[in-house]
Amino acid sequence: SMDAGDFAAWIRRTAERVSADAERLTRLDAAIGDGDHGLNLDRGFRAAVEALPGDVPPGAVLIAAGRAIVSKTGGASGPLYGTALRRAGKAFGDAADVDAAALGSALRAALQGVQDLGKAVEGDKTMVDALAPAVAAYEAALADGSGLAGCARAAAEAAAKGADGTVPMRARKGRASYLGERSEGHLDPGASSTALVLRALADVAG
Ligand code: ADP
Ligand code: MG
Ligand code: MG
Repeated sequence: SMDAGDFAAWIRRTAERVSADAERLTRLDAAIGDGDHGLNLDRGFRAAVEALPGDVPPGAVLIAAGRAIVSKTGGASGPLYGTALRRAGKAFGDAADVDAAALGSALRAALQGVQDLGKAVEGDKTMVDALAPAVAAYEAALADGSGLAGCARAAAEAAAKGADGTVPMRARKGRASYLGERSEGHLDPGASSTALVLRALADVAG
């Protein structure tokens, strides 16, 4: 299971990975968007790390991180990531420990939050193309009896594969959709960053 410290470690680990990859994410966004995705997320996750509260349950950790991201991150991705974290946090209630099943429910709630807000479905070339298969893979691993670490690893692998799968897609949501068929042949920046966030989760899950 994961406690509040583990979720804080996830946010810090994500911030490290985003910072290390900010230039790459920005380059991806320069190809089919406005070239700010790495910058947006770097600013957002730095703010999330600074906002991490002490002595609160996991749900409150993620809600605080999500709120900081919404307030500090420009672009489409800020509200989407912020909503995902807040929905996940809410799903935990005030539990002090989160087991594999509870984390799966929270990831499902996060995906629902992203789709409620952004209206994207799989195939639209967005972060949903990484997050939706990640949630499905997590749930499949859970049904197979995997523990939290194994489920998180399955989710991270599926997210990476899902992100790669956005390359041939034509964008139907977000700025990249303005390019029409010229968005084809490029990796979606948000799907790529979502894979990174889930890799960070697998890192801290052990
Ligand atoms: P902006 O495009 O406003 O500059 P970012 O560059 O930070 O914002 O984020 C772009 C990413 O946001 C895209 O690569 C895509 O994955 C994601 N995105 C954009 N619109 C949506 C949406 N409606 N639903 C889900 N994800 C979206
Ligand atoms: Mg952008
Ligand atoms: Mg922008």
